[in-house]
Amino acid sequence: MGLSRKQHKRPQTSRIYRHKRSNTPKHKDPPTFEATTGKAAVWGTVVIGRKLRQVLSLQRNFVLAISRGYRTTATIDAIILSGVLPLNIKIREEAMRARVGRMGKIEQIENSTLKHNEYETKIQYLKSHPAHTGKGINIWPSKIPPPKTDITIYTDGTKSEEGVVSAYVIYNKNNEIKTWQTKLEEYNSVFQAELTAIEIAILNTKDTNHKNITILSDSNSSLQAIKDPSNTSPIVKSIQRTLQTTKTRYTMQWIKAHNNTLGNERADTLAKLAVKNEDIPKTKLPKPLSHLKKTLRDISIINWQTQWTEEGEGRRLHSYIHKVDLNKNIGDTTLTQFLTGHATTPSYFHKIGQESSPNCVCGRVGDLDHFSYDCPLTREIHFKNPGPDKTVQKRMILREKGLRNNCRIIINFLQSRNRELCEPAP
Ligand SMILES: [Zn+2]
Repeated sequence: MGLSRKQHKRPQTSRIYRHKRSNTPKHKDPPTFEATTGKAAVWGTVVIGRKLRQVLSLQRNFVLAISRGYRTTATIDAIILSGVLPLNIKIREEAMRARVGRMGKIEQIENSTLKHNEYETKIQYLKSHPAHTGKGINIWPSKIPPPKTDITIYTDGTKSEEGVVSAYVIYNKNNEIKTWQTKLEEYNSVFQAELTAIEIAILNTKDTNHKNITILSDSNSSLQAIKDPSNTSPIVKSIQRTLQTTKTRYTMQWIKAHNNTLGNERADTLAKLAVKNEDIPKTKLPKPLSHLKKTLRDISIINWQTQWTEEGEGRRLHSYIHKVDLNKNIGDTTLTQFLTGHATTPSYFHKIGQESSPNCVCGRVGDLDHFSYDCPLTREIHFKNPGPDKTVQKRMILREKGLRNNCRIIINFLQSRNRELCEPAP
């Protein structure tokens, strides 16, 4: 009181400043991965390009451990073998997610404009009196029949390639008295669809004469979310608020999907019919944050692919793996040696300065391709029928067990002979 905003802030700022200053010399540890991405929103957009190699080197130990490669394996190769997003791309993704999702920014990334106001805003913990927490929220155990009520509502939400819809059907005793359907946008989630059905069912029945209503849903995650006072979904919060304030008592229970009960099948059919029906009204909901995450991940994969196509061009690994893949995880020392070419060949010994010549005892350059296709000493273990340009077979290696075994046989042979295969110095 009495102090202007500026005056009020000044002492605090200087205290933080002093605190930081005095701590600075004590920082010895290199930044951890978490610390690096945590600060991503601040410097994520600056680091691209200029410091690419330095950023990737932070990731080096992780990916080398995953791919179990030699210490000489290139970081860029180890990243591909581990199926891990390159750190420079990961940082940019996290930065965008924070800026759009949490900091309320509009960002242009490649050809997409990501606007904060198009996404769901997380609602923080609802400040209510502890006595009111959970008030009105009755989630009944799934195996015990709930108390009988005249009104029973079956809700359903579905998402398929054809669309996202919410539906419910209301029964009075066993008579169907009302149905409701709506279409959401293709970017909305099945979670949003299930919750919307529940939310609208409650809003449309809370002011009727019925004081006890049962809602049956086959979405356990929706019911668990409604039960959770710390859930941050805006639809969940809206349902919780309505349940706390309405005089109608709602009992909610999870039922198994497709369990042959009339109401559950009916709600399911209503949802399916709504997908195909052009006349069903639409409901406009914000995009879920999972959509932001997926959009950014898709962009990251495209960027990673571009980076690998440019940087990987001409690398041995690129002829075996030309497509980046987050599901790839080659934690196999022998295979990693074969794919990266960092194996005990004369040309490798030459490269690391242990041999004066890169040649095989047969007189030709002793690299892995030599032992795989040409060397008379390894004729027995050559790849069979490689075809005119070998590329097709190389791309098949990770997919075919027989070819993978062939790689292992060659690597094991080279290890057993070690320097014996190197051309003797003149
Ligand atoms: Zn040879």
